[in-house]
Amino acid sequence: MTTPVPRKLRVATTSLAGCFGCHMSFLDIDEHLFELVELIEFDRSPLTDIKDVGPCDIGLIEGGVCNSENVHVLREFRRNCKTLIALGACAVTGGLPAQRNHLSLSECLREVYQFRPGVENGQIPNDPELPLPLDKVRPIHEVVRVDYFIPGCPPSGPAIWKFLTDLIAGRTPRLTGGLLHYD
Ligand code: SF4
Repeated sequence: MTTPVPRKLRVATTSLAGCFGCHMSFLDIDEHLFELVELIEFDRSPLTDIKDVGPCDIGLIEGGVCNSENVHVLREFRRNCKTLIALGACAVTGGLPAQRNHLSLSECLREVYQFRPGVENGQIPNDPELPLPLDKVRPIHEVVRVDYFIPGCPPSGPAIWKFLTDLIAGRTPRLTGGLLHYD
């Protein structure tokens, strides 16, 4: 009798208003990536060519929410992922991009596209293909329910590895000591 092969967990990841640094830190798990792909398979992610998120066990979200497309993608992830994780300071609190929150959006746009030195006859882009910016940068928990938060800018590779191995093994993930930091 053959032993049934355990089903691999399906994992999706995305970057919203992030810098991809959290994804780079994910790749910092280095040789553990080989162990990881024995346990999981990737769904939509910057690491794959899958365009739409399908039913998943785990969704990892990097970045806060700064425009209408971010809201759409985040809601898709929440609908499709059993467990949704805010990965990194931007997803947890809005992060450094949220420093624009004390400025008016229209002033920011005018400053960059119309009044910046060297810009002549500049116009604020208004092509309907472009997602509309939100007035403020939001942490993801202000838009959808979030199951877990991993702080850090970025969280370290070892922290991400510890968190994922706990979760995959069915344990409540716990980060302590040097694995838990906010910078
Ligand atoms: S938390 Fe830091 S590393 Fe991660 S997306 Fe934000 S700025 Fe980049």
